[in-house]
Amino acid sequence: MRDVQPAGSHFVDGHYIDDPAGRLIECIYPATGEVVARLHSATPAIIELALASAVRAQKEWAALRPVVRGRVLRKAADILRERNQELSELETIDTGKPIQETLVADAASGADALEYFGGLIASDTGETIPLGGDFVYTIREALGVCVGIGAWNYPTQIACWKAAPALACGNAMIFKPSETTPLGALKLAEILILAGAPAGLLNVVQGYSDVGGALVTDPRVAKVSLTGSIGTGRKVYAAAADGMRHVTMELGGKSPLIIFEDADIDSAVSAAINANFYSSGQVCSNGTRVFVHDAVRPTFLARLVKRTANAIIGDPLDEATQVGPLVSEAQRNKVLGYIETGKTEGAKLLIGGRVPPSQNSGFYIEPTIFADVTDDMTIAREEIFGPVMSVLGFTEETDVITRANATQFGLAAGVFTADMARAHRVIAKLEAGTCWINTYNITPVEAPFGGVKLSGVGRENSRAALDHYSQIKSVYVAMSPVAAAY
Ligand code: NDP
Repeated sequence: MRDVQPAGSHFVDGHYIDDPAGRLIECIYPATGEVVARLHSATPAIIELALASAVRAQKEWAALRPVVRGRVLRKAADILRERNQELSELETIDTGKPIQETLVADAASGADALEYFGGLIASDTGETIPLGGDFVYTIREALGVCVGIGAWNYPTQIACWKAAPALACGNAMIFKPSETTPLGALKLAEILILAGAPAGLLNVVQGYSDVGGALVTDPRVAKVSLTGSIGTGRKVYAAAADGMRHVTMELGGKSPLIIFEDADIDSAVSAAINANFYSSGQVCSNGTRVFVHDAVRPTFLARLVKRTANAIIGDPLDEATQVGPLVSEAQRNKVLGYIETGKTEGAKLLIGGRVPPSQNSGFYIEPTIFADVTDDMTIAREEIFGPVMSVLGFTEETDVITRANATQFGLAAGVFTADMARAHRVIAKLEAGTCWINTYNITPVEAPFGGVKLSGVGRENSRAALDHYSQIKSVYVAMSPVAAAY
């Protein structure tokens, strides 16, 4: 395997730096369990360098014409695309996701975000509000220094989805990856410098939650965008509230995928597979509660199991591999625990549920399907974040909507039906921020992405993201002298 040890643990003020006094972070290749890089958590000295250089870079960057900022982001997008093979291999080593996924989903979607926001920002002007002589004009201003904190499932994409709109709006960003996957975001910081961004504009600092905590509470920080679990979201949101900082929270889910009796069954099976087993199920918006109408459930399950049995599990660096390992031993053990709970609580295991016998190293679990799942079972209520699909039955539209909404989460939802009136009627009643009709988990940068209820606050991607990385200044202009009462 190629050497992935970075030149330093952190990328700050335009170059790699390190401080060996920081706590050790071992980067483990999930397919074998071997340590592939050793990094250090940021010390207070590194955090200070990151904050000071970000404050400096942000002022310089915000003073540029938006079209010039956009050009830098679009150049970075081009470099990401040119280096897609190398970056995809790194992402696979960092996360264990199959290279056939990372080649199309990670640096590629990151490049889309940089291109989209780079192209959008120059036309994102304020407005003029006529008042019959006097008028008001508005300016969309940057917030300042933003902090991005990422989860481990899409380290490069998460860094890009946060940095692209933040930087487009004239902010600087300090990004802290999950300590499980520290490598991808460093490359983004390096590439932005090659594209012409000022040193310090995107700093990447590694660390455990104490580093994230120190960044979130620093008075120089104006905004925090977190992708992570609801538990972490609560802590970070509360810490940010103290300084009245802006937040974006992209948190977990337990999303419903509802398949009606008139759906294209093969298409619905494909969607259920993608919505549960892509990235070994480590996707926040996954449709992990698959509600299938009783009239088609036997057919659906038969085809689903047959196709799942054909999944190629193996070395994620082999382009033929369709299912790789989970990100870490801890995550694998957590998911195996949920599978045991599913069995104990009476769900019917149709396929999978084991560590594949062919994989004697690494953190693999077979794609797993449970049928006869009921709403009260643990596997139907809690986010598992692994390759575990729960299939539930239903007959009535109103009943399935009520059951789909009976959760604290509200990230995503999907409906499969040939009846478009029904599709729109059902979607309108589902409590979810990101929805699909006759497909699942497609997240183009042009579309808003985010959750309702405990799944999140704010939106990533699309024009909507600009609102979350900027603030509006309103300027009243008087055209005549001021009169006063005395
Ligand atoms: P965690 O919530 O454990 O961690 C997320 C990030 O927050 C990590 O970088 C973590 O650092 C950091 N962190 C933890 N505690 C604090 C704190 N007190 N202050 C500041 N930062 C902190 O999530 P995972 O990494 O385990 O990712 C899985 C979760 O992410 C799932 O719930 C999933 O649904 C969600 N997710 C949501 C997405 C969305 O867009 N809605 C997309 C992808 C994932 P450290 O790792 O060092 O603890």
